[in-house]
Amino acid sequence: MRLSRYFLPVLKENPSEAQIVSHRLMLRAGMIKQSSAGIYSWLPLGFKVLRKVENIVHEEQQRAGHMPMLMPTIQSADLWRESGRYDAYGAEMLRFKDRHDRDMLFTPTAEELITDIFRAHVGSYKDLPLTMYQIQWKFRDEIRPRFGVMRGREFFMKDGYNFDLTKEDALHAYNRHLVSYLRTYERMGLQAIPMRADSGPIGGDDTHEFLVLAETGESEVFYDSAVTDLTFGDREIDYDDHAQCAGVMEEFTNLYARTDETHDEALFNAIPEERRRVARGIEVGQIFYFGTKYSDALNAVVQGPDGKQVPVHMGSHGIGVSRLLGAIIEASHDDKGIIWPEGVTPYHCGIVNLKQGDAEADGACDALYQSLTALGLEPLYDDRNERAGGKFATMDLIGLPWRITVGPRGLKNGVVELTSRRTGQSEELPPEEAVKRVAGIYAAL
Ligand code: ATP
Ligand code: MG
Repeated sequence: MRLSRYFLPVLKENPSEAQIVSHRLMLRAGMIKQSSAGIYSWLPLGFKVLRKVENIVHEEQQRAGHMPMLMPTIQSADLWRESGRYDAYGAEMLRFKDRHDRDMLFTPTAEELITDIFRAHVGSYKDLPLTMYQIQWKFRDEIRPRFGVMRGREFFMKDGYNFDLTKEDALHAYNRHLVSYLRTYERMGLQAIPMRADSGPIGGDDTHEFLVLAETGESEVFYDSAVTDLTFGDREIDYDDHAQCAGVMEEFTNLYARTDETHDEALFNAIPEERRRVARGIEVGQIFYFGTKYSDALNAVVQGPDGKQVPVHMGSHGIGVSRLLGAIIEASHDDKGIIWPEGVTPYHCGIVNLKQGDAEADGACDALYQSLTALGLEPLYDDRNERAGGKFATMDLIGLPWRITVGPRGLKNGVVELTSRRTGQSEELPPEEAVKRVAGIYAAL
């Protein structure tokens, strides 16, 4: 993409309505624009990152054997009356009527609808296990939408649902989700710590939230600092192997880590004092096992191996896809702007032309652009007639992890400059070497 043709409405001033850095930077970098309280348009740069995050979620869900599907945003109230949640959900549910005076709502989550699909089509234990998920817009009429996409009213969420014959199988689905979530967040450059939590209106006993530690987080968390040393990394995992998934669950949840809702002072005090931490975190996902709560209410039964009809064991599993953009920025920025982790960066590499209109500099930039593109990378070329300082400021603000700077002086010596956004360190090298270096970094992901 050439910046001269791009829609990137960066703001020079700090927007006064933004209280936290991720909100400020998303507005300043021209990623989002508020349309009404807690509801945003995603401008090209923001949309590009949203898609990258969404794609990682898709890839990791499908790697775990979960099937993508899509359910409507607008639902009839009937199913929600059947489950009893139409009244229980309260003011957070956006309700309205259609022209025939039927009660409708904008989906805040989709346990009822998926269970209805399941009961219409699945009748035998032979069709289990089954896990389906969607990545779809949700609406919750939050009392205090704030912090930009972090607590929106309309937000993009992955919600997955497992159907299993037994509790043991459903707990395997729970563990499988935990593993897939660890991989998902790490690919985004994030550490998200599973913490024992409270189930809220979804219901059920077993639940973990995934929290990204950040001062601006809305949850208070208590943990053993040893949990921050755990990483999943690139280890092989067989998602069908119950023992292997249970082992990962055990490894990542046996140290003390809880949100304030389930915090236990006595257990916390049993941690060696130098490892006790009280901090704040951003909830970027949650997994639930809730047994037969919805299958009982909605009569989702299958015929078991002994011929008897039994309710299925279920769980649901969410990832805050749009909130993740805020969480990533909270975890990765400096005073100049965003620093995208390579896994989610909107463009792989920036190209800054220090002397636009100079035939040699223009030619070198075009050649770099073509070489990077030919390798399957997406560069963002700042080809505007702006002074160098302004170009650098824009690149730093929008946070591409790598920048190649091209100027007549360097070209005389046959070199360009490759700069890491994270460390600020630059290196001079021939253009083709710079391309190789950048390609190598992304190939290793
Ligand atoms: P919270 O406690 O933050 O209100 P929740 O526990 O009600 O969230 P879930 O039902 O667990 O939310 O939804 C799954 C994920 O969707 C959450 O982990 C979070 O990352 C994201 N999410 C929930 N509410 C919002 C919101 N208002 N704006 C953006 N993302 C949200
Ligand atoms: Mg939650």
